[in-house]
Amino acid sequence: MKCPICNNSTGVQIDMHSDGYARDIMECTNCNALWIATADEIILLNKHVA
Ligand SMILES: [Zn+2]
Repeated sequence: MKCPICNNSTGVQIDMHSDGYARDIMECTNCNALWIATADEIILLNKHVA
């Protein structure tokens, strides 16, 4: 899984605390991007964690 924002694959991790979402939220520790990867699309959350 590569980050859809910065294409970095080394800092991507799954956020298991994805309350309210049916699918796991992916997080890029390089650029703080958050997204949900489904079978056929990527949903960007554009949420920057402090
Ligand atoms: Zn990134």
